[in-house]
Amino acid sequence: LHNAVIKSDKIEVVSQLAASVSHEVRNPLTVTRGFLQMLKDPTIEEKKRLYYLNTAIDELDRAETIIKDYLNFAKPQSEMDSSICVKEEIEKALELILPYANHFSVNIKKDLMAGMNVAGEAAKLHQCILNIIKNGIEAMPNGGDLVISCREMANNHVSITIEDTGCGMSPQQLAKIGEPYFSTKAEKGTGLGMMVVNKIIHEMGGTVNVKSKLNAGTQFKITLPLYNVEKRET
Ligand code: ADP
Ligand code: MG
Repeated sequence: LHNAVIKSDKIEVVSQLAASVSHEVRNPLTVTRGFLQMLKDPTIEEKKRLYYLNTAIDELDRAETIIKDYLNFAKPQSEMDSSICVKEEIEKALELILPYANHFSVNIKKDLMAGMNVAGEAAKLHQCILNIIKNGIEAMPNGGDLVISCREMANNHVSITIEDTGCGMSPQQLAKIGEPYFSTKAEKGTGLGMMVVNKIIHEMGGTVNVKSKLNAGTQFKITLPLYNVEKRET
């Protein structure tokens, strides 16, 4: 079993990213525009017309994937003043991802402790949970189990664990997870999902830990400080 703590020095690479991400999105848009332009030709044969249309749709999907993985990351950091219910955010994310899980015959089990809050923006935590669950499902293209749990830890922290029985990672892959653009999914991946997770969780004062075994599965563990512990205890 291999273990990696995602270090914050990796996250610093990220500052130069805004420009390259907009570049990544611009490529598929440019390609789409080119194909639409060609479709203006009324003499175009049916086979070509279909090819151009399908390519344009694929490219737009690609742009959408990049934006989805990156969504919250691109937003300016706002204050950490609101209190988020961890269980609620996990449940909202699960509802969104359920059709995707069903499509790959992935069975989701949950074990969620109620009444735990953390400080930050709900949309950002939501994005982290989605990105990790999505990776778990994608690691089990022929089905499997995904278990998500949250519980209170001894030191006024909450832990969120997401475990899959999927393809796992080699030690080399594990060492690279969270690096911008590291992906083993070729044109289907962006390599941005885990980078976004790391950035958000570190901003919230938490940690991300990954354990993985090739051909066995992967476990992500997020820890976050509980909201306003001082106030709660007095
Ligand atoms: P993407 O999903 O677009 O490839 P991510 O940043 O979300 O980018 O993930 C980076 C890489 O980390 C993936 O391509 C995959 O190789 C690896 N990875 C992430 N989560 C898992 C998982 N649950 N099981 C196996 N590999 C994973
Ligand atoms: Mg991903």
